Amino acid sequence: MANLPDPTSAWRAVLGRLQLEMPPAQFNTYLQPCVGHDWDNGCLVVAAGSSFAVSWLELPLHRAMAHEALAKTLGHSASIEYRALPGIAAPAGNGMPQSAAPALIAAAAPTRAPIPADYDLGSRRSRAAGSGYDWQSANAATCNPNYSFANFIVGCSNQLAYHAARSIAENDGGDGNGAAAAVAGCNPLLLYAGPGLGKTHLLHAIGNYALQQNKAALYVTSEQFTNEFVSAVGKRTMREFRDRYRSLDVLLLDDVQFLAGKEQTQESLFHTFNDLHQAGAQIVLTSDRAPQTINRLEERLRSRFQSGLLADIQPPSLETRLAILHAWDEERDAAMPSVVLEMIAQRVSSNVRVLQGAFNRIVAAARLLQQAITPEQAARQLDAVAGPAAQPEITPEQVLRQTAARYRIGADQILGRSRTANVAEARQVVMYLLTDELGGTPTDAGRFLAGRNHSTIIHGAGKIRDALAGGDERITRAVSAVKEAFYA
Ligand code: ADP
Ligand code: MG
Repeated sequence: MANLPDPTSAWRAVLGRLQLEMPPAQFNTYLQPCVGHDWDNGCLVVAAGSSFAVSWLELPLHRAMAHEALAKTLGHSASIEYRALPGIAAPAGNGMPQSAAPALIAAAAPTRAPIPADYDLGSRRSRAAGSGYDWQSANAATCNPNYSFANFIVGCSNQLAYHAARSIAENDGGDGNGAAAAVAGCNPLLLYAGPGLGKTHLLHAIGNYALQQNKAALYVTSEQFTNEFVSAVGKRTMREFRDRYRSLDVLLLDDVQFLAGKEQTQESLFHTFNDLHQAGAQIVLTSDRAPQTINRLEERLRSRFQSGLLADIQPPSLETRLAILHAWDEERDAAMPSVVLEMIAQRVSSNVRVLQGAFNRIVAAARLLQQAITPEQAARQLDAVAGPAAQPEITPEQVLRQTAARYRIGADQILGRSRTANVAEARQVVMYLLTDELGGTPTDAGRFLAGRNHSTIIHGAGKIRDALAGGDERITRAVSAVKEAFYA
């Protein structure tokens, strides 16, 4: 291909664009160290620091983001191939050290955070034990034994979170006796995802595993943490409160977004956090949003939350939903026909909790009525849970909004006159969806799109139709993402 910029600058330009779109910890850990290495037949070969980094870069969302940034840089689409070439890639920034990265997947040779020389691991144990407080059974009671790694189904959408959680749980601190020791670069581990996507499940899985290894692991919701703190202040039992938390090897704190605006609790958590971190204990947090978007969170706490590994969980793909349903079917001995499992996976796409509700309802109805599970019976239950299968009413405004969101531009830009490639493509996607998907006439679509001529609509929609028929990957992904957003 003619006139390609040199690979190093091309990749640097991609990084410049991605830096604005990614949480800093992820950017610094995975993207920053990569180096544009070569062009191979029009494909940009990028050297990554480790095979773990490659697997992160290849997650569909990250791949699509980099691909889009490269297309914007070059003015045309080009593919990217990531290769693990640690000798060429730069050392990781302030994220996970390179040496720790492969350990996440291989779980071999666990790496440890340096433990300060003046810190005696044994002393925390004995202090807790000496107080007569049976921390092990008290803490064990906080973890739900039904949530394990074994019954967590891994797909593209949650693999980073899963592997990170596992590597933390399996890290035995190197001395085999369950001493605390955080995984380097992963302390804290912050899992963030919308509701029902498995954050709490993974926290309990880590806790159960750690407890089996005789570690002091405690699961606590941010709400409980707040209540305990308030009660300790009221009853003047701050010392016990502090001791309880400081004797931990692993602190599992769920739903930190709940701490928004609770200044004193935040302060207490800040000190607990620092003590545990200093002592080499592992901290795992969850949030239903990225830390930079939690309002009314003290800056110093926010920066602590962001200082380790951030792992997001995306909604599961159709394949993963199906795999989850198969696993439940086996576990519950439900003998659900495959067509029914497929029907549920197709119709329930929002999150795993809703998926579970639908599955349970169908099993319960069949058992109550003492009938075998049939597609008809299942469809009736699904109608009750998710509404009739009939397509929801979709408005042109929704199409416009979702498309603009997908292309990261404003709806007004689509309606406007800009001819920038990205905006023009988004506009054509809207034309296509209004006509081919919603069945509108080109004249109506033209009127909606700020009075455009019907032949403009026919031409624009046709371009997208051709691209889809020709297997254009980027456009196919964009159109499906927009459609998924309104059928979700
Ligand atoms: P969150 O804390 O993110 O709101 P939960 O961890 O409570 O979500 O998950 C909701 C339900 O879905 C739980 O019953 C959990 O076991 C289940 N679940 C979520 N993700 C998975 C998965 N990948 N595999 C199996 N079950 C899952
Ligand atoms: Mg939860």
